[in-house]
Amino acid sequence: MNIATQAAQIGLDWDTRTGAVTVPIYQTATFRHPGLGQSTGYDYSRSGNPTRQALEGGIARLDGGARGFAYASGMAAIANLLLLFRSGDHLVVTEDLYGGTCRLFDQILVQYGLSFTYVDTSDPEAVRGAIRPETRALFVESLTNPLLKVADVAALSALCRERGLLCIVDNTFLTPYLLRPLDLGADVTVYSGTKYLSGHNDTVSGLVAVRDQVLADRVYFLQNSVGAVLGPQDAWLTIRGMKTLSVRLDRQQENAGRIAEWLARHPRVRRVFYPGLPDHPGHELLARQARGFGAMIAFEVDDKALVERVLLNTELISFAESLGGVETLITFPQVQTHADIPPAVRERLGINDVLLRLSVGIEDADDLIADLDQAFGGGSQRPGPGNR
Ligand SMILES: *Cc1c(COP(=O)(O)O)cnc(C)c1O
Repeated sequence: MNIATQAAQIGLDWDTRTGAVTVPIYQTATFRHPGLGQSTGYDYSRSGNPTRQALEGGIARLDGGARGFAYASGMAAIANLLLLFRSGDHLVVTEDLYGGTCRLFDQILVQYGLSFTYVDTSDPEAVRGAIRPETRALFVESLTNPLLKVADVAALSALCRERGLLCIVDNTFLTPYLLRPLDLGADVTVYSGTKYLSGHNDTVSGLVAVRDQVLADRVYFLQNSVGAVLGPQDAWLTIRGMKTLSVRLDRQQENAGRIAEWLARHPRVRRVFYPGLPDHPGHELLARQARGFGAMIAFEVDDKALVERVLLNTELISFAESLGGVETLITFPQVQTHADIPPAVRERLGINDVLLRLSVGIEDADDLIADLDQAFGGGSQRPGPGNR
């Protein structure tokens, strides 16, 4: 079944008693037992809650996994998965990693004896070269943040299989609608549900899908033992968002394509990073492996002073962190999302003082382009504060 259909119908068949079209919010901590040694299948909401389960089943279906899991945030999901490893284990990781993931690995998990090697995971040979005898897994972002490098998930999964490594894909930027890593051989997908899956900048959540049942049982053990589960209200909001994933992303991608082309022609823009542009190094690969190119754009302006001007002068586009929602947001990765990456590493990766990142929303593309145009100080007349 098409993923758009599956997404729209998450939770639909849950309440057979009333026939409710949406899954109810089971705002309960505990469940009554029908008899001694008997259970309705629900005992305590950390271990299992129907609203959360509707969401967990939904992400499992969208990704083609044996089982899904919902967590209090994307970071809670990643932290829980990393508990699959033990002191002495080594992981190979995408070098331009989400800042929060980098902080978790380098400032916290290293204290527990895990070690990490950061490589350009858009280069499978670089990944191969970083594997050591104690390597247990590859943690890769399918489309990286903020420079939008594309990982060859099929090639990397094959390499992991060959070397006996777990292949974990942070697929936040693409979602199962655009890329299904488990179909390409990955073992686990992880998402910040906060971003495209919820899609409305109104919920913080994390999701995981696991391909194999044995591994899924282990992840369930960790989820229940550590307890960073998603509450029923936020599970419901995440489901509500996921129902419109396909229409939102179709529109967001269409807008992103137009904005990227406009930026690429702008005299004050030095470089545009958008995999939908034919000269992007990952263009061919995504065209082959994915349904689309996503709706994140990074670009370099030609002068440091312009960064602040653009950030402060956009009016429709909000200067805010996060991404993936219906509202277009702009950020300055160097001082915001990627502040926790060591400065030398940031500079080497190209996360510099002229790089801006756009998360393109569902507004009208012409309105967004007009807003960028006036923020750059070009073309159209700028309205004064009274006209806002
Ligand atoms: C936001 C983000 C995370 C962390 O998710 P939270 O929901 O903010 O905890 C992890 N990976 C990527 C790629 C992200 O964009």
